Amino acid sequence: MQTENLIPIRPGFGGFDFPYEKADVVFFGAPMDVTSSYRSGYRFAPAKIREASANLETYVQSSGLDVFEKLNVSDLGDLMLVPTDVEASGRAIAAVVRQILKDRKIPFLLGGEHTITYFSAKSFKDCCVVQLDAHRDLRDEYMGDKVCHATVMRRLLDFLPPERIVQLGVRSCSKDEAEFLDRTHIAAYDSGRLIEDHAEVVKEVKDIVGDEDVYLTVDLDVLDPAFAPGVATPEPGGPSTFQILKLLRELGELNIVGCDVVELVPPHDDGTTAFAAARLIYELLAAFSKKSR
Ligand code: MN
Ligand code: MN
Repeated sequence: MQTENLIPIRPGFGGFDFPYEKADVVFFGAPMDVTSSYRSGYRFAPAKIREASANLETYVQSSGLDVFEKLNVSDLGDLMLVPTDVEASGRAIAAVVRQILKDRKIPFLLGGEHTITYFSAKSFKDCCVVQLDAHRDLRDEYMGDKVCHATVMRRLLDFLPPERIVQLGVRSCSKDEAEFLDRTHIAAYDSGRLIEDHAEVVKEVKDIVGDEDVYLTVDLDVLDPAFAPGVATPEPGGPSTFQILKLLRELGELNIVGCDVVELVPPHDDGTTAFAAARLIYELLAAFSKKSR
């Protein structure tokens, strides 16, 4: 692994300090903080998620296992990005993701704004992208930007067919995005459907994805702002942390080959959102750990 533009941070997520060579899952921070249209401060997010992770148990009660037991987890630290250049930062992100994939490990990105998903997911071949988000992020451009937090899923369609995208928890979009969704037949399960019809939604998602490779992107604003106030664009009317934990436990059974957790803005967080993020990540690690048994 080329590490000259990675700033090592110890302890890493959860205090996991396995050597990279032996790791199954590899964390790194991608603190991109450029295109927010409202709140910013994403650059502080990886540190706050790591801090929260150090203060939660690594034993995941719902799965009855300690994520240390079966899974080797490494944390490369934070990637140095070019503060004013989304494309240059994106190339750096893609390079690290590609290297981790080449070494046959699961990359796990700590955002950063949602834009990082474009550069990360682009590095995978033929994967499905499952998105948890309050927003569709399907605008073709936003305030003149083609590549930003509000267009990220639309940009994925530049290289992925719409059948390979699944949206979960959305409760806000523009009329154009709604019409675009109808035209393209992207599978989408809105917030209300997810909350009221959880089991059926999970079953349908599993049917759509099957045993394909899955890239999972978790925009923390999928959570109701009561449970995750510290996000860039809070959107009322969402599921609880409990509901999303349950969802991730089930989605964790899919063939997940890459993940990111994005959109935390620590200057607007009292710690609630960072702790929710860390707990969601542990739930996923427990699911990966279960599969490796
Ligand atoms: Mn969002
Ligand atoms: Mn988003």
